[in-house]
Amino acid sequence: MKFSFCFTNVKNKRVNFVGNLSIPMDRHKYETHRINDISGRYFPPDTLDRILQKLPGNPNTTEVGKSVSGLPIYKVRLGNGPIRVLMWSQMHGNESTTTKAVLDLMHYLLSGSREVEFLKGQLTIDMLPMLNPDGSLAYTRENANGTDLNRDAHQRKEPESEVLRACYEKFQPHFCLNLHDQRTIYSLGASPIPATLSFLAPSADAARGLPENRVRAMELIAAIAQDLREVLPGGIGRYDDSFNPNCVGDQFQMDGAATLLFEAGHFPGDYSREHTRFFVFRALLSCLNRIADGSYASFSTAHYLSLPANGKLLVDLRIRNAGHLFPHFGQDEDLAIQYREVLRDGRIHWVPEWPEEDLTEGRYGHREWDAAREADREEILKTPGLLRLLEKGQSS
Ligand SMILES: [Zn+2]
Repeated sequence: MKFSFCFTNVKNKRVNFVGNLSIPMDRHKYETHRINDISGRYFPPDTLDRILQKLPGNPNTTEVGKSVSGLPIYKVRLGNGPIRVLMWSQMHGNESTTTKAVLDLMHYLLSGSREVEFLKGQLTIDMLPMLNPDGSLAYTRENANGTDLNRDAHQRKEPESEVLRACYEKFQPHFCLNLHDQRTIYSLGASPIPATLSFLAPSADAARGLPENRVRAMELIAAIAQDLREVLPGGIGRYDDSFNPNCVGDQFQMDGAATLLFEAGHFPGDYSREHTRFFVFRALLSCLNRIADGSYASFSTAHYLSLPANGKLLVDLRIRNAGHLFPHFGQDEDLAIQYREVLRDGRIHWVPEWPEEDLTEGRYGHREWDAAREADREEILKTPGLLRLLEKGQSS
């Protein structure tokens, strides 16, 4: 079923607002809205329950369905304005950065300031902070049936996919925000700079055409990138727009809602993604403001297309001249090592591993060492888990 959305009302609404009411929100002000008792990468369903119960002002929270194993899926509604925005996070259970940011955003939207009242008067915002509670508990991308929900948008054989679809059909959002984490490999184009945030206005067809809703998504991303220039200079990339109707974003774009993909990525030294959490919060707030005052329309698709495309040129650890460490490496051999995220005792541990494919050629490391230097060798051997991996060598 294809919905046709009428943007005319949204457009007319703009006439009532002059200028951009974008809220300046620096890191310092953010800290007053940040929910301090959540942190790190593991974000299971009981943590969500605890936070939702503690939010001030009893926000309108409903259970909209259950996961494969029967865990509840919640939706929080804030605002009562004419423009409808639907967002969902943790569709992939091991992608929690945007969930933390969404909860910070809820906390902010419950603060009752003049800026917040403006947003809530313009927008009705439906938020599903955890679409895949089973995957969130097990820290897996997939749901309990082993399905990647972001490849199930067309068939919808999983209950979580039906829940999201039902929310979409009932709410008929003008804007959809599809919130994810991306791996540490992503760079800004061919540079060694990590893509700390990436965005995509997903394609609505195989020809990657430009229907009105996709153009709006592009304009909005360009506006967000502009707003974040001060707080995150240079760290914003553009995700690949190959069309796949099994992906939820592509499906909703096809159905007429202006749909944006947010990808929370790596910031130097921030494996817990607490800095990235702030950038996502800031991007979400910018997005809502630009929708509410209509000012995204002053940006163009060219602005969006000028964002650097994501490259895949980063690895977690890079060691040059590895023969200086152990003789089973060639004297000037370069090594690339990736972290695997392992859930143990309720926390995520980063375990160094050899990547499945050869990633040594033309890659940069988030940490780089030259084993020919004594100080670097000392640091390498002190890095947890690394000595064991290096002793075994790459062939084992
Ligand atoms: Zn994802």
